[in-house]
Amino acid sequence: MGTALVYHEDMTATRLLWDDPEYIALVQKTQTLDKEELHALSKQYNAVYFHPDTFHCARLAAGAALQLVDAVLTGAVHNGLALVRPPGHHSQRAAANGFCVFNNVALAAKHAKQKYGLQRILIVDWDVHHGQGIQYIFNDDPSVLYFSWHRYEHGSFWPFLPESDADAVGQGQGQGFTVNLPWNQVGMGNADYLAAFLHVLLPLAFEFDPELVLVSAGFDSAIGDPEGQMQATPECFAHLTQLLQVLAGGRICAVLEGGYHLESLAQSVCMMVQTLLGDPTPPLLGLMVPCQSALESIQSVQTAQTPYWTSLQQNVAPVLSSSTHSPEERSLRLLGESPTCAVAEDSLSPLLDQLCLRPAPPICTAVASTVPGAALCLPPGVLHQEGSVLREETEAWARLHKSRFQDEDLATLGKILCLLDGIMDGQIRNAIATTTALATAATLDVLIQRCLARRAQRVLCVALGQLDRPLDLADDGRILWLNIRGKDAAIQSMFHFSTPLPQTTGGFLSLILGLVLPLAYGFQPDMVLMALGPAHGLQNAQAALLAAMLRSPVGGRILAVVEEESIRLLARSLAQALHGETPPSLGPFSKATPEEIQALMFLKARLEARWKLLQVAAPPP
Ligand code: ZN
Repeated sequence: MGTALVYHEDMTATRLLWDDPEYIALVQKTQTLDKEELHALSKQYNAVYFHPDTFHCARLAAGAALQLVDAVLTGAVHNGLALVRPPGHHSQRAAANGFCVFNNVALAAKHAKQKYGLQRILIVDWDVHHGQGIQYIFNDDPSVLYFSWHRYEHGSFWPFLPESDADAVGQGQGQGFTVNLPWNQVGMGNADYLAAFLHVLLPLAFEFDPELVLVSAGFDSAIGDPEGQMQATPECFAHLTQLLQVLAGGRICAVLEGGYHLESLAQSVCMMVQTLLGDPTPPLLGLMVPCQSALESIQSVQTAQTPYWTSLQQNVAPVLSSSTHSPEERSLRLLGESPTCAVAEDSLSPLLDQLCLRPAPPICTAVASTVPGAALCLPPGVLHQEGSVLREETEAWARLHKSRFQDEDLATLGKILCLLDGIMDGQIRNAIATTTALATAATLDVLIQRCLARRAQRVLCVALGQLDRPLDLADDGRILWLNIRGKDAAIQSMFHFSTPLPQTTGGFLSLILGLVLPLAYGFQPDMVLMALGPAHGLQNAQAALLAAMLRSPVGGRILAVVEEESIRLLARSLAQALHGETPPSLGPFSKATPEEIQALMFLKARLEARWKLLQVAAPPP
């Protein structure tokens, strides 16, 4: 189950699924026209040129997209990318437009519906132009959710259409299934794109629950492109791709659209393909602070879409009696001035030079367990860790927590420390370890201290259940401690806080997308420690989703520590998620309770001064 790359020009075993014979015949005729006739015909359309090879190439491009859908939906491959020219997302049923002749991605969606009976298809159009062709074709079709962000500048950028704005939401049965996020300034960067994914696209996508994800993969939205004039670096597309991989069982078919800076285009495509192949995400550069204009755009699309999506309705603060508290809230340290969307001059080549393709660690996922391996039903390819650090070293670390470690815990602790070293040395991508319930908190504390001793700059701890914050935990910005437990949200500092575990799917998704991931991306950790202590309350699918999504901001470097009572239930799905498989479904979408939303709102309102990716609305100017 690999990744398909479709590009050969002989992939023509295909046919159009809906006919508009006049337009097709017209395009076919272009093969025999002379230069003057081609010029005259081209002028009848908006931003189009015809060439004697146009018909042949356009058929190849459409065929490549259909062949990719076939390969993914028959299970021949897991995902793939079709590298095609001409692109497709501007073309309409009977009109070429914007260098596009046939709408490759729309055809792919129709094909998936007609041949495979799919009922929910998500199209993510991250090209910098609005794919108005796709929007028109599915405008009243609720089986296709079309998301597009695009340079808009209040309508002054091509294709200058009012229906590219946020308030165009589809018609009839299709209302709410067209989602336009217009960028009203150039210079949008990694933080702006991430904010759009975390606060708009992904909440809707989880609620929609697609069976297939098609990507209109244009890279004129990347840095350096003269058309887009945006600032997102190539690695950003690795992150966007990995965030989509938790949907639709990982069935992603990407089809190339625009991209006019050849080096930026090539690097961005490379980043996407590496991620489709399962490589860890590279670090994301830049301040994780969305700009004012991006937040205004995000807010406008949320306002337009709220009537149609429960997950957005949850963003509205419920009126409840106060049950949350902040016992030792400290003054908030701000990040300094908020950055602007200004385009940094000459920033491109140093950024592209820095882009390093880091080798993936030789071992993907390793497990050290107090429970026999056979009882864990681990997926193939997961390594059982037998190595250990030296006994004296283990004992020295254990002495810090004399009362919490029994003698029989020491062998396990030695193995866990060895796993941590393997991850930090780049030998192991991620790992799962079990401990006795009593030793979980002390193990986590030792791991934190060892990370710091090994000069980790930033360690994110996501602790679930009854795991108390270590008393001597530093508050110097090196450790971000998030405890998910109990009934109330509470803030000890900008780096230490706790939140309840929601019981609804809507609440859980809001926790992950609206709080955990924005914090993780804002913190940019070297290492994630995910600890499931006594009474953690996580179900299989929840644990898997949390682990799968935490991989992105940390390049996959996660050590999950699980108390042994629940490891039998969780080990397999947790290992699969860390290994890169799509987590199982959380089940039907259920709306978050007012209490769940209130707890999240309480935290976000107090934390967003420091953690800017939490923002979903622009502060007043
Ligand atoms: Zn474009």
